[in-house]
Amino acid sequence: MKFGGTSMAGTERIRRVANIVRKQTAGGNEVAVVVSAMAGETDRLVNFCREANALYDPAEYDVVVASGEQVTSGLLALTLQSLGAKARSWLGWQLPVRTIEAHAKARVDSIDGEALGKSMAEGEIAVIPGFQGVSDEGRITTMGRGGSDTSAVAVAAAVGADRCDIYTDVDGVYTTDPRIVAKARKLKAVTYEEMLELASVGAKVLQTRSVGLAMKEGVRVQVLSSFVGDDAVPADELPGTMIVSEEEMNELVEKGLVERQHVTGIAHDKNEAKVILTRVPDKPGAVAHIFEPLAKASINVDMIIQNVGRDKGETDVTFTVPQADLARAQALLEDKRDDIGYNRLITDSKIAKISVVGVGMKSHAGVAATMFQALADRGINIQAITTSEIKVSVMIDEDETELAVRVLHTAYGLDAADEAA
Ligand code: ADP
Ligand code: ASP
Ligand code: MG
Repeated sequence: MKFGGTSMAGTERIRRVANIVRKQTAGGNEVAVVVSAMAGETDRLVNFCREANALYDPAEYDVVVASGEQVTSGLLALTLQSLGAKARSWLGWQLPVRTIEAHAKARVDSIDGEALGKSMAEGEIAVIPGFQGVSDEGRITTMGRGGSDTSAVAVAAAVGADRCDIYTDVDGVYTTDPRIVAKARKLKAVTYEEMLELASVGAKVLQTRSVGLAMKEGVRVQVLSSFVGDDAVPADELPGTMIVSEEEMNELVEKGLVERQHVTGIAHDKNEAKVILTRVPDKPGAVAHIFEPLAKASINVDMIIQNVGRDKGETDVTFTVPQADLARAQALLEDKRDDIGYNRLITDSKIAKISVVGVGMKSHAGVAATMFQALADRGINIQAITTSEIKVSVMIDEDETELAVRVLHTAYGLDAADEAA
């Protein structure tokens, strides 16, 4: 069971969580619980780091930001004990949750499930702070924002759990962010592949890595709400959204339990920035000169367009990078100006990426055309396009994000039927 930030925000909420956990153990289940820091706490801690040192050392940043989860894991163990349950916390370094790779974006390498399994078998509820681990050098690491989802899936895999229930502040995965589109529909099931794509293009309900790991390890994941009353449908009856394999999905469709649409969901991402280089030489090797330094600096480039060449063998190149990396990218490109040979470097953070995702696209033509037409009808200008087998993304002006998401949701027939109708 994993509980996110809003579910853990304050002692009252933690008591609710403890009750939900107790219900599971009362049903005869052994349970490990992974918790997030209280809502807003990680942001607060990140700001402290920035104030202390703008160019902070990621290893010390991890020491600071991992603390939010230490607090909530101890508090939940205390609350469970106050209800008469046996419970104890297991910090990342105690389990241990071994991670590899860089600080602030560490990846889980292995979790030793032995001590955990033993403690659980003895009827003790294990409470584990999400987001944190320990490096081979014995230093605290964190797994990137939203990383508690990945901790939960990794723990589930380590103990061979029957299911990994991700409790959050919405009751499942919707056709789009229900906070933007009131008519978004809850999905009974979504495939790993689609969820992976949705998460990677901005649907923050699950961290992308957690979905990849669940897919690789075959962990059964359910997304459901912790904001429910005592009379709520029990988690074992699967009230939320199940992340399933393609085969399972086909079975659900055949049984008529799930309806298959060409588009499963729509996501948006406001965290990218656009970079334009004008009058780049239109010759072999020119774009390699641009992207090589960015790759070396581990800056991820997402959308790329190279305009039709101008006269005189020149062309404009436009691409996007994460907003957090924009300043670094800009400095690198200015540094390499002579090598690349561009005229002007223009940047714009006020852009958004809107994506439509669905495995139905593999076999159904016209999904992209519908998208472009629906946006055109509302006068929304498309600045760039990228596609994959199951996704189409467009770059638009950030101010038009909400409108675009709503318009597309309607265009693909995803709106929930009006209750009054
Ligand atoms: P937690 O703190 O529990 O990890 P998050 O804030 O990380 O919760 O994720 C839950 C939020 O994800 C929801 O409140 C919702 O606004 C947002 N969200 C974005 N896209 C979707 C979607 N397709 N379905 C459900 N929620 C979504
Ligand atoms: N507390 C961390 C964050 O806010 C991890 C998580 O909640 O998943 O990013
Ligand atoms: Mg989250």
